[in-house]
Amino acid sequence: MQHGLSVPIKGVLNKLSIKDLDIKGKRVFIRVDFNVPLDENLNITDDRRIRSSLPTINYAIDEGSRIIIASHLGRPKGRIDKRYTLASVSRRLQRLIKKEVTFLPDCVGPEVEAAVGRMSDGDIILLENLRFHAGEEENDEEFSRALARLADYYVNDAFGTAHRRHASIVGITKFLPSAAGFLLQKEIDYLQGVVNHPIRPFVAILGGAKVSGKIDVIRNLEDKVDKVIVGGGMAYTFLKAMGYNVGDSLVEDDMLDLANEIREAVASRGIKFYLPVDCVIAQSIEPGAETKLVTTQEIPHGWKAVDIGPASVKLFSEALESAKTILWNGPMGVFEVDAFSRGTFAIAHAVADAYALTIVGGGDTDLAVSRAGVSESISFISAGGGAALELLEGRELPGLMALTDK
Ligand code: AMP
Repeated sequence: MQHGLSVPIKGVLNKLSIKDLDIKGKRVFIRVDFNVPLDENLNITDDRRIRSSLPTINYAIDEGSRIIIASHLGRPKGRIDKRYTLASVSRRLQRLIKKEVTFLPDCVGPEVEAAVGRMSDGDIILLENLRFHAGEEENDEEFSRALARLADYYVNDAFGTAHRRHASIVGITKFLPSAAGFLLQKEIDYLQGVVNHPIRPFVAILGGAKVSGKIDVIRNLEDKVDKVIVGGGMAYTFLKAMGYNVGDSLVEDDMLDLANEIREAVASRGIKFYLPVDCVIAQSIEPGAETKLVTTQEIPHGWKAVDIGPASVKLFSEALESAKTILWNGPMGVFEVDAFSRGTFAIAHAVADAYALTIVGGGDTDLAVSRAGVSESISFISAGGGAALELLEGRELPGLMALTDK
């Protein structure tokens, strides 16, 4: 059953949208994030990133434009490296849109320009990996200009890369009218919406490895959130700062004072702050390691917390009951190891069952939700780890800022 409310709370997008452009018969350069995981035989193991840009691509097809699609894949470091070719992505895209996709062996240069010159309305070209050229990550002006020469309009649908100041994200926008694609727009609507105008009560669940990675998110949400739930590795820095003995759990010692300051600042605003009350501990994070369940007050020396325990799951789940908006970023434990995944999966179910607008974003929480089998019951799952985190921290995304104002 679908529990997550699906009414978006809108962020403000005062930039051109693809819908504002008259793209019929025009050459449209669509920057997507097709940075998909590949196995050792270069087969795609998860095509969600391709599927998430289909609304934009299909819209451009329906409008009868000439579509030039560009992406990066992996980190070829400015050199041609066939392990990172987009050839298999091209085949998958063709299958998904049921239309011929012409895959070009490069992304700039006279041959690419000639191929683009031969396009008819409705034709689709996929360019080879942008990062085969050093100019991409250097945001090089000449490279940006060479990309811009291929098109009349630029559309950014690469939310996962929108925090990068690269040529195909920022540089190119100097030379073309530049608009947001539907994926970029949707991500902004949800993530900026939840940060700026959450429907309250608003509960933020934060987990993952380190406090340092999430401090700015807590700070940015401080005056909008009603409850903050902290799990995962970062909880043990807070607990140690409160004087608990956390054994060998992950702790950032240089963050102890800051952890106390944050907890006190949050409490002084009347925000409820939840930490785990029990945890699964192990001596190593190897699969098959012996585990014990203890309260967070009795983690012995030589043992580390690897997951939250059932009492914490109950405490956190009850805290979610009245929520109208839930934002979740970061797993509750080392969920990659089966034996330590129970707490994360239980929270995934609690979030999915909540009668609230539920937003999962940043880091690998999307993977946790998918492994827990509840993706369908979450209102919105962000496609962009790093970019989502930056939005939640209240930072401006270079790729969004660079688009043409409305
Ligand atoms: P992040 O990218 O900061 O969201 O961190 C995600 C990572 O945090 C995952 O790979 C988890 O394995 C790890 N993690 C979660 N809980 C713990 C923990 N208690 N101890 C160590 N690592 C953890």
